Amino acid sequence: MDDQLDAVVIGAGIVGLAVARALALRGRAVLVLERHALPAQETSSRNSGVIHSGIYYPASSLKARLCVAGRARLYEFMEHRGVAHRRCGKLIVAQEGQQRALELLQRQALQNGVTDLVALSGAGVRDYEPALRCAAGLWCPSTGIVDVHELAQALIADLEAAGGTIAYRTVVQSARVGTGAARLLCLGGDEPVEIESALLVNAAGLAAVELLRRFAGYPAPLLRTAWFAKGNYFSLAGAKPFRHLVYPMPDEAGLGIHATLDLDGATRFGPNVEWVDRPEYAVDPRKADEFYGSIRSYWPDLADGALQPGYAGVRPKLVGPGAKAADFVIEGPEVHGCAGLVNLLGIESPGLTSCLAIGEYVASLAGAVAENGTG
Ligand SMILES: Cc1cc2nc3c(=O)[nH]c(=O)nc-3n(C[C@H](O)[C@H](O)[C@H](O)COP(=O)(O)OP(=O)(O)OC[C@H]3O[C@@H](n4cnc5c(N)ncnc54)[C@H](O)[C@@H]3O)c2cc1C
Repeated sequence: MDDQLDAVVIGAGIVGLAVARALALRGRAVLVLERHALPAQETSSRNSGVIHSGIYYPASSLKARLCVAGRARLYEFMEHRGVAHRRCGKLIVAQEGQQRALELLQRQALQNGVTDLVALSGAGVRDYEPALRCAAGLWCPSTGIVDVHELAQALIADLEAAGGTIAYRTVVQSARVGTGAARLLCLGGDEPVEIESALLVNAAGLAAVELLRRFAGYPAPLLRTAWFAKGNYFSLAGAKPFRHLVYPMPDEAGLGIHATLDLDGATRFGPNVEWVDRPEYAVDPRKADEFYGSIRSYWPDLADGALQPGYAGVRPKLVGPGAKAADFVIEGPEVHGCAGLVNLLGIESPGLTSCLAIGEYVASLAGAVAENGTG
């Protein structure tokens, strides 16, 4: 690996893979560096697996634009490639006193280009899901669920068919960035390896912000603090109560403890929001109390003892507790001045839904970088 490479992507999560695929399809020779032995082992496999419509995000934010565009691209891709998924639709349910917030949510959705929502009365919601208690709701037909591992495999197949490669068990330890090609120091083999690349995409997920501290040449004033918001899930034992996804009204840090389905129809609830100092994934069974209270606000029939600890994921946040949610940050040389470097920061939800649109966005940014001669 002594010669200069064309493009390196750090991280084989869903977003890193989608970026690598998009670059490879545009003719770039791409190498993905991943510290685990398999793809999509971190946030990409510790989420709700939901294809979001694009309702919640401020108009013209990257989250809104990339989610709406990415959702359409993702359905098309999955249908074409036979990736397991289901367009099951979701209900957002509002309790007494939340109807105004629900109207604002529908207005937000329209601004974002989500035009297929249907406003429902409480009785209208119960036509879809008889067990729900609520005052009003929204039916969102374009929401769905996906098998993330099948999606990862389909992205890898395209990447490899276009000549790209993934080096697993390879940790990017540090880098030098600046005016010329990026120079990376990688661990994993018998000896550390140095790699040079004209384009470097930092898609390291939960580690992306901290990794920049080890990029010599990256401007110190742009360094950020990484915040981590863990989301726990509990699975539901026994009968399957819902055929659609069910979401309460969102709160400041997340979408509320919602009911999602997997492709077999099994139900799980989550994620809550628990701020942690560093990523960790143990689910404390005592958290079930918080879940029972929250779920019974819209599904009163939830039986005692029905919830079992499931799994957890961690959101890579750019702002801490109480702050307004940050947008995705996708920064190229026009922001930080380092040739050929693109950072993907704070790629929390709806990153899975947006992955193909993020890939195309980064590939066009990388094309512009190369055309300007700065990459
Ligand atoms: C609880 C929760 C629920 C969510 N639900 C949804 C949802 O329903 N729908 C949706 O659209 N989005 C959802 N998301 C968001 C979505 O999961 C993420 O946006 C997406 O998975 C991010 O993918 P990624 O590739 O950026 O990051 P990751 O999947 O974290 O991948 C980053 C990769 O980088 C690797 N890496 C890190 N550092 C290094 C290094 N130094 N050297 C080599 N490799 C390195 C890691 O090993 C990892 O594989 C959710 C997120 C959470 C936490």
